[in-house]
Amino acid sequence: MPTPQTLARTDAEALYHFSAWADGFFGINADGHVEVRPRGTHEPVVDLHALARSLQDEGHDLPLVVRFHDVLHARVRLLNEAFASARQEAGYQGTYTTAFPIKVNQLHEVVEEVLDAGRPYGLGLECGSKAELVAALPLLPDDDTLLVCNGYKDDSMLRLILGGQRLGRNVMPVVEKYGEFERLMALAASTHTQTQFGVRVRLSTPGAGKWASSGGDESKFGITISELLSLVEALEAQGTTEAFKLLHIHIGSQIPDVRTLRDAVKELTQVYVQLRRRGIGIERMDVGGGLGVSYTVGYPASSGTDSGDAINYSLDEYANAVVYTVQEVCDAAGCPHPDLVSESGRALTAHHSVLLVNVQGAYGRDAIDPAFVPAEDDHAVVRDLYQTLSWIREPETTQPPALLEAYHDLAEKRREADALFTYGYLDLEQKALAERLFWSACRHIHTRIGETDPEWLPAELQALDDLLIDQYLCDFSVFQSMIDHWAIGQRFPIVPIHRLDEVPSRRGVLVDLTCDSDGKISRFVSPDPEKDYLELHPLRPGEPYVLGVFLMGAYQDIMGDMHNLFGRVGEAHVYADADEPQGYYVEKTVAGASVQDILALVRYFPNDLQRRMSELVRAKVKAKTIRSAAGYHLLNEYKQLFEETTYLGG
Ligand code: PLP
Repeated sequence: MPTPQTLARTDAEALYHFSAWADGFFGINADGHVEVRPRGTHEPVVDLHALARSLQDEGHDLPLVVRFHDVLHARVRLLNEAFASARQEAGYQGTYTTAFPIKVNQLHEVVEEVLDAGRPYGLGLECGSKAELVAALPLLPDDDTLLVCNGYKDDSMLRLILGGQRLGRNVMPVVEKYGEFERLMALAASTHTQTQFGVRVRLSTPGAGKWASSGGDESKFGITISELLSLVEALEAQGTTEAFKLLHIHIGSQIPDVRTLRDAVKELTQVYVQLRRRGIGIERMDVGGGLGVSYTVGYPASSGTDSGDAINYSLDEYANAVVYTVQEVCDAAGCPHPDLVSESGRALTAHHSVLLVNVQGAYGRDAIDPAFVPAEDDHAVVRDLYQTLSWIREPETTQPPALLEAYHDLAEKRREADALFTYGYLDLEQKALAERLFWSACRHIHTRIGETDPEWLPAELQALDDLLIDQYLCDFSVFQSMIDHWAIGQRFPIVPIHRLDEVPSRRGVLVDLTCDSDGKISRFVSPDPEKDYLELHPLRPGEPYVLGVFLMGAYQDIMGDMHNLFGRVGEAHVYADADEPQGYYVEKTVAGASVQDILALVRYFPNDLQRRMSELVRAKVKAKTIRSAAGYHLLNEYKQLFEETTYLGG
């Protein structure tokens, strides 16, 4: 294998666009490994490759999700500090509270960690379904901590919410539909509960980004302005206006443009101001989720590309946009500043988890041995292909017109070889030689045209770019671990976690273990929205090659499905600790789902399957199809598989 060219650290960081997505948490160290700064500061620093190796040495196979709990703390701190300085600079009189929406990552450890990190700031929770409500209510640390309950609610949920309020907890149901308001008030009256609630308003300002339909006239959520008026009239008639405590919007996750947020907040504040003038004592304004994360490089608006994976604002700008917009409208109307709430989940959790996957193999187009020379008895089509290859190898064959002509010759000979094979005039060996010669020649052409401006290249030569991309087979499932890539084409930063001091000389797409052609990753972080490959290193025999998929902590952990029965991957929970020699300690590891766990979810049970298998083996032993020792050995191996993980491991 040729000696790889060396790559400077800064060049490697530029190649994988760390500045677009790393937010100070990730970088590359002098050994060419990805390093993690879990607190977002200089110390401590964790060598991610060394961490992966030590976890593997302890028997924790990849794929593995590594959770950096300190990153959660850092993100909670950054968000709250951003709002604190915005409020201080603006002279804003209301408070700010984060209600962490657990839908973004309901894992118990994650929710507890976010609550812990948020204790100094009074961070609360948001839930959007029955099961989330059941999980969240007992987690509130005290009576002041806010629990916002969004989503459609049936009577059993409303009863639990009212029960929480009677216990003195600060539970805030947000009315999504007018009928929900009527049922809530009726249940509150029948249980003598002095209730409080919020209302989600359907704004005229349309949402933006991939989840734009969460807001605007077309949204399935929230009540219209005319329903809001009916609701207020009903409260006035009942003399219960004091129950109406909060106004809520959510215009979509991952808002790409801060101007959309400002417009929506302005419209909501007008609603607030007008209701206050009418004597409704609303105290809080909840601007929902939407605070985005930069997964990739932003594209210029002129490219016409959906830039939903990138955002055009910082955390500070987000906080300023909310605080100053609300303040401006309130001051103009002479209204008190409301207490602010945001339901930011993605921005708190995305950075904390990294998925580590092993590459199992790299498959490029077949290539001919460089020393190959056709023999006398090789077929004419093979000798012709060889002749064209030799011509392309000549140093003077460099101009696109000559290369195009060579490509046309090659393509014609390839078609001829295929036809000869189909009609039985070419044997398998000769067909294989023809294919190897064809692809080797294409690779040479591709290298020759590397420097040419694509605008000057004929389409057929440009197409070689895609045809020559290698496939890197990775031990994971896109459907289980990166569902948003499959569902909405979201780009995630992906970087080899080692060998970053070597120029990555290959271009690859990542294919997963599932038997589905969609089970692959072919959109990557790049200023070129069309880029469909990742720079990767050639595999070395016997040496693992590990890729890190970053910013996986929001939604991906929880939305994955079991396509092909690949289950949850194992986890390592890591805390930074400058006193430890490696700068961290692993608090716990959680095994991935076993084959039997995942089979049970689709109602196959070990006893039944093993009984059927032993009956089969016994019958075959009796029929002398298989010897008894071999039969029982096979049965034992079958039984052992139930305990294994659903991945290849290693
Ligand atoms: N609040 C509500 C009502 C939501 O529906 C969502 C998610 O879409 C969120 C908060 C979380 O938003 P984000 O992903 O921007 O953190």
